[in-house]
Amino acid sequence: MNASPSPGADVSGDAYLPAHGNGGYRVLRYDLDLEYRPAANRLSGTARITAVATQPLSGLVLDFEPYKLNRVQVQGVNARYTHRGHKLRVKPARSIAEGAEFVVDIRYAGNPAPLNSPEWGDVGWDELTDGALVASQPVGAPSWFPCNDHPSDKAAYRLSMKVPAPYTVVATGRLVDTRRSAGATTWVFERDEPSATYLMSVQIGQYVEVALDDVARIFVPPRLRDNALFDFGRQPQIRRTLEDWFGPYPFDEYAVVVTDDELDDPIEAQGMAVFGAGHVDGLRTHERLVVHEFAHQWFGNSLTVADWKHIWLNEGFATYAEWLWSEAAGGETADELARRWRAEPAQQGVGPRIGDPGVRDMFSQRVYKGGALTLHALRGQLGDETFFALLRDWTSTHRHGTVTTADFTALAAHHAGRPLDTFFTTWLDTDTLPA
Ligand SMILES: [Zn+2]
Repeated sequence: MNASPSPGADVSGDAYLPAHGNGGYRVLRYDLDLEYRPAANRLSGTARITAVATQPLSGLVLDFEPYKLNRVQVQGVNARYTHRGHKLRVKPARSIAEGAEFVVDIRYAGNPAPLNSPEWGDVGWDELTDGALVASQPVGAPSWFPCNDHPSDKAAYRLSMKVPAPYTVVATGRLVDTRRSAGATTWVFERDEPSATYLMSVQIGQYVEVALDDVARIFVPPRLRDNALFDFGRQPQIRRTLEDWFGPYPFDEYAVVVTDDELDDPIEAQGMAVFGAGHVDGLRTHERLVVHEFAHQWFGNSLTVADWKHIWLNEGFATYAEWLWSEAAGGETADELARRWRAEPAQQGVGPRIGDPGVRDMFSQRVYKGGALTLHALRGQLGDETFFALLRDWTSTHRHGTVTTADFTALAAHHAGRPLDTFFTTWLDTDTLPA
């Protein structure tokens, strides 16, 4: 038996981002035991990765940005390694058999910095004026922990984060413990639901916490508290309404963080969303974004794309949730919004294909608004009863799994009781949208 990894072991096979993620194993669990000092922007600690080999492995590869590595062990035994570019290559003392579970421990320290990409700007761990945040979509996770950075390799997490006393840590997951020591607090979170690396997030700042209902809490700088409580005041109604359309909220908790700094766009994380100070004005100006990020908990976070080319399954659905909410809240109807956005220049003429937009246009308006237009047209084809039954079946069948466009179109045809190939080809696979 060949005990070396296949030639593709340092690639994921992703259609758009093949250099992110690796082959030969699947991660079951990450245990991150970390400490962060904001004044020095210093992150240090240990990552324990529990994984299972999907082939015989004489070595394995992880995605990880430059940190000083103090120790790399596999099964408790020191391993040889090289760390070049974004890849950490580990060679265990003994090969790992196919199907075997194994543990990798990596002790590291350094000054975290976001990855700068031409397409998406800075992603990953980023310093704030007073604190830090993590917004990783799509490839920022290796800026703060070694991982198999591909959305299809979802895993459980435990995160322990020690910070100086005045700071609050909000992280994806259930807060299970806080321990105070001299001048510092350690915050411990458990994330049991399988989660993609890009959706793991940490927010460190000086926040006050307010419960919005028995699921949602908001963490906000004191100066923005009153405006934020108004702007997020309908979050409980939004949850009930989205649950009617999309089925039960997929997590036990939802943390909304408003940073003291401006952010260009809010961003979703697992059971969490992060907004900038500029998204809060006490007038609910950005409520559509409150809905958009919350809808990602179903579309993106519970149901995660198996490959980045299926990104419309996240963004088209989250955008359509905005339109549905607008109508439910007495604003413009979904139909009015669909007609308005269809007339915008971004939906006219030749443009990226919604079902395969290419890596540069993953987050383009053609994917967001065009994806929502596709759903609105599908709703017209199926009628409301069948359309919403399809969405609830979609979220329940693939709950906490990974999905592709073909999965969705097949389920839609099943609910329609007839083939929809022509419909979906016309919307998703062509570079001009139908009238
Ligand atoms: Zn989005």
